[in-house]
Amino acid sequence: MTHSGDHPSDHDHGQCVAGALARMEKCCAEKGLRLTPLRRSVMKALAETHVPLGAYEIVERLAAGGEPTPPMSVYRVLDFLVAEGLAHRIESRNAFLACGHPHDAEEVVVFLICERCGLTKEVASHAVGRDLAWAARAAGFEPRQRVLEVAGTCASCREAASAAAPGAAETAGAG
Ligand SMILES: [Zn+2]
Ligand SMILES: [Zn+2]
Repeated sequence: MTHSGDHPSDHDHGQCVAGALARMEKCCAEKGLRLTPLRRSVMKALAETHVPLGAYEIVERLAAGGEPTPPMSVYRVLDFLVAEGLAHRIESRNAFLACGHPHDAEEVVVFLICERCGLTKEVASHAVGRDLAWAARAAGFEPRQRVLEVAGTCASCREAASAAAPGAAETAGAG
């Protein structure tokens, strides 16, 4: 059941998938948008992992699940999901991540991207949003996108690294 790059479950992942699909259903119902089987399948594929997926990885997952789909169709669904705020595009990886909650215009979305396993955690910050708005205004700049991508090492990979080299971690964590 584990996909490459996923860590052993540190949370009830069924909740993530169910939550993402429920949010999509609600969004489509409210806006009168069609929830096609393909839209649902792509959302499910995205929600099944916290590692951003490229369009071709989604095509492969759909094919493996018995739903062969042309890449163009997958691209169209991804455009739809991003436009409706149901998924985010991670520019640095040219990949997509399901989003489980709405964002307001004041906040900046920060993606914490693990360079080892690809795990990507989304955190939203009003404080960063305010600072960025202030800095942009001072520069006479109008931001189109309010997203930050931060590369680094996730908690699981840090733990794995410290297990492999206990001495180094002890020194770093002391005090
Ligand atoms: Zn989000
Ligand atoms: Zn990691």
